[in-house]
Amino acid sequence: MNALVVQPPFTQLNSPYPAVYYLEAFLRERGIEARAVDHSIELYRSIFSREGIVPAFDAARRMLDRGSSPAAAPIDPASLSQLERYLSYEALYLEWIDSLVAFLSGGDPALAHRLAQAVELPRGMRAEAFLEARGGRIGSHEARGLATALLEDLGDLVSFAFDPSFETVRYGERIATSAARFAPIRAALDASPLLGSAYAALLAAEWGKSGRAPDLLLLSLPFPGCLLGALACARSAREAFGPGMRILFGGGYVSTELRGLVDGGIFDFCDYLCFDAGYGSIDSILEVEAGAPKERLYKTMYRDGDGRVVAAGFSDSDDAAAELGSRRRTGCDQADRLLAAEKEALAAIAPDYAGCPFGRYLQFVDSENPMHRLWSDSPWLKYRLAHGCYWRRCSFCDTRLDYVSRFAPVEIARLVAAADSASERTGLYGIHFADEAMPMRSLLAFARANRLRAGVGKRPFHFWGNVRFDSTWTQDRCEYLAASGLVAVSGGIEIATDVGLEMTDKGFDLAGLARSLVAMKRSGLLVHAYLIYGFPGQSRRDIDDSVEVCRQLFSAGLVDSAFWHRFVLTRHSRMYGEWLEGGGSWPDLQPRESPWDFANNDLGFAGEESFDEFDGPLSSTLEAWMRGAALEEPRAGAGTAPGRIEELILEAEAELDARKPEGKGQAHWIAGLPAARPLGAGRSRLAWAYRGESRDLALPSEAATATATCLAALSRASDGRDFGELKAELRRSGRLSEEAIYELRSSGLVVL
Ligand code: SF4
Repeated sequence: MNALVVQPPFTQLNSPYPAVYYLEAFLRERGIEARAVDHSIELYRSIFSREGIVPAFDAARRMLDRGSSPAAAPIDPASLSQLERYLSYEALYLEWIDSLVAFLSGGDPALAHRLAQAVELPRGMRAEAFLEARGGRIGSHEARGLATALLEDLGDLVSFAFDPSFETVRYGERIATSAARFAPIRAALDASPLLGSAYAALLAAEWGKSGRAPDLLLLSLPFPGCLLGALACARSAREAFGPGMRILFGGGYVSTELRGLVDGGIFDFCDYLCFDAGYGSIDSILEVEAGAPKERLYKTMYRDGDGRVVAAGFSDSDDAAAELGSRRRTGCDQADRLLAAEKEALAAIAPDYAGCPFGRYLQFVDSENPMHRLWSDSPWLKYRLAHGCYWRRCSFCDTRLDYVSRFAPVEIARLVAAADSASERTGLYGIHFADEAMPMRSLLAFARANRLRAGVGKRPFHFWGNVRFDSTWTQDRCEYLAASGLVAVSGGIEIATDVGLEMTDKGFDLAGLARSLVAMKRSGLLVHAYLIYGFPGQSRRDIDDSVEVCRQLFSAGLVDSAFWHRFVLTRHSRMYGEWLEGGGSWPDLQPRESPWDFANNDLGFAGEESFDEFDGPLSSTLEAWMRGAALEEPRAGAGTAPGRIEELILEAEAELDARKPEGKGQAHWIAGLPAARPLGAGRSRLAWAYRGESRDLALPSEAATATATCLAALSRASDGRDFGELKAELRRSGRLSEEAIYELRSSGLVVL
């Protein structure tokens, strides 16, 4: 049996979305010959090439000739003038485009100098703004930013003149998100200029290369912006290979939006929908395809001979098992066994990215913000430390879905082995943990394994991922993790007020948040925060207070970047679940539902329009802060005192500085190696470097030598050493005082 696993367009440009490589590794474990391909990056590269961009210019020419858009809407004078400029620069764009893509994929570094020197560059609004902000000329170190702006200008041309569903990292998202009916999606697919031309050509080439038909074609749909691409891919594969091949759709979009599916139209394109982690569903499909009865299917939907959707193998409490319209439900005769096998796979499977062409990905520089750059200007190996969230309580989150509610940490040894193999093949040592929130225990275990690797001469990994700003982030752990390769964290603050944190049930208050952030920033970690506004019942005053606290967090340097999300009430959220059961903490919530027979996730609620006024202004305020502007302007209307965060920082620092020598746990030495330097008269200086500064302790010579030996051994011990035992030895052999141990605790000796 052989399988092709496809990422349909579009997802991010800097690295592959990991699901297809996880699926490839899983299928290989099951003895299936599997190959993963990323049509997202391939289609992007095909459009943004000398030949591929021509249809966008042709479309622009037609628009200008007609004086109206394809939908016969008049074009405003500003857009007309932009189109004229694009067309005037067409030849230059065609001359530059392949070089720009190659440059942003890491090739032809010398192009930086050409970009810095060139006066007559093709340019649209983004490149123009980029150059104007720098006085019209750039240095070669800014060339990637200009190349990004030039390609984004072309992206604007594609979406304006050729295909309005195109966005750089998604396609047709607005059509697919919570689309109540399937018919408009089918119509959008049939009318799609881009999928019908560039993607059709790419698919034809792909099937030609494949030679024989795959037995299984798996398409991963992490987001709504992949649905139309998946349908186009599936339809083309069916036409090329006939009905014998089985086509499976799965991923976050399927699991989140299609649990209430009644219309079987999507099964004109695929045979099965796989839900949640997918491994159990795929195992059950393999068994059914090998002859087992359909009652074997686990967490899977299909269309039966009567044209009815069948929801197979879901538990009674699952939304996917609800009685809806003509939908039928069946049980799974081997649910426990399949669940156990899935658990095992979740813990053990990690891809080695063996066939992944990392050199095809682009490193966009669309911001100078260091956290934004980390996000998009580097390729990352993507892994996860756990499936699900160890907290799974936030009121707005989809806690009723498996990808949040079922917490299952991975086996660190298997993960490190896979990452080792990937690094050797790709030369990449950066890992993005794409978890819901990295669990501290797993993170520490990974950091220890990383130190161990470095200790045997292997190049260490550098890594980042999502976190909760909870009390597990102590100063010692932050220092240890930062010294072991952690570079950045992103996490939800959501509503930055005590009332808001309680309402969202984040599990920490403002003082706790400040403590975690201070510990993180003292350790040099970059921090990105997710913020929410428009929560049901949130007062204007609370939004202003949250904005004011965020301003203070930026101003104090505790947060490097952030993003405001407008709250969306979702069907699988804890909040909606509590409301269904009689209100819970949300007796005043009035969800707005519309009839559906296809996707159903986002819900409206009474009063949500009152938050419209915040949509644009909050983002602009945030952008100003991230540029370092307007940081000293308190939010009008906020009741929060302008010095609130400063107060909390002082409290946090006092608490963090009072780290007692009597702390419990495993001790680790993360500073430079200490050495004993004789001072004369039987005394020596124990000297070492910590964070670039020299530290020392004057001790009796014998004690200095014994302490240096003890700490050197500790620095080699990847598991560290019990702090109580270590202190006893330091006191005994080094005759160290409490003050001296305190000095060590502030300068490289951490206790986890
Ligand atoms: S928002 Fe994040 S931390 Fe909260 S429950 Fe969801 S995944 Fe967990």
